Amino acid sequence: MSPMPSTTPAKHRRPGTHPAALGEETPLGRKRRARRINRTLAEAFPDAHAELDFSNALELLVATVLSAQTTDARVNMVTPELFAKYPTAEAYARANQGDIEAIIRSAGFYRSKAKNLIGLGQKLVADYGGEVPEALEDLVTLPGVGRKTAHVVRGNAFGLPGLTVDTHFQRLTKRLMLTEDTDPVKIERAVAELIEPAEWTMFSHRIIFQGRRVCRARKPACGVCPIAFDCPSFGAGPTGPEAADLIKGEVRL
Ligand code: SF4
Repeated sequence: MSPMPSTTPAKHRRPGTHPAALGEETPLGRKRRARRINRTLAEAFPDAHAELDFSNALELLVATVLSAQTTDARVNMVTPELFAKYPTAEAYARANQGDIEAIIRSAGFYRSKAKNLIGLGQKLVADYGGEVPEALEDLVTLPGVGRKTAHVVRGNAFGLPGLTVDTHFQRLTKRLMLTEDTDPVKIERAVAELIEPAEWTMFSHRIIFQGRRVCRARKPACGVCPIAFDCPSFGAGPTGPEAADLIKGEVRL
């Protein structure tokens, strides 16, 4: 889908002059800026959501495990067949690894992912009555499930607030200078201090949408970025209207 054209240029400062870039931002200023960024992104991406297709907690858990090292779009191509064939934890527990591999091959790392899905089904059956647990400390004991996957499941299947620190979230929090931390768990803790808990799940979706569509790893579209005014890294990419060509997907500017 092509980007919606902007009628008014995004507000921004001269590159390098943001107080955060100059080391002059107070902790309160950072918190206010983070919350303003969240509000601005809510307007830019009113439909921000998990981009994996699922209809229950088990499907989301499986899709998130499959999404390691690949795109959500690719996962969404293989999951309809997988979910139809393996509708329960018991079905994964009893599955033949080669059968799962054949279905998920195009999602990459299919051997280890198939093995994880069987192990995941077995552990859900053995320890959780075949149900997906809600607690973070339980979820991270499942094969192939780390904190990021656990938060995706908690936030989107159970409505429990969580910050999903994926590669986009890490890049964005660095460019936005919301934290100096580089370790995902420390990033999660630092951002949790800035953003209201009730907003954690949606803030994660919005930041990931921004990372996929506007502030991509190479050539961020600074010139048309909705949060340019609040970004200390404004100027990391082209700053003129030609930046619109770098946007992928739809953004309300
Ligand atoms: S696109 Fe540019 S201005 Fe926007 S968040 Fe990324 S680095 Fe900052």
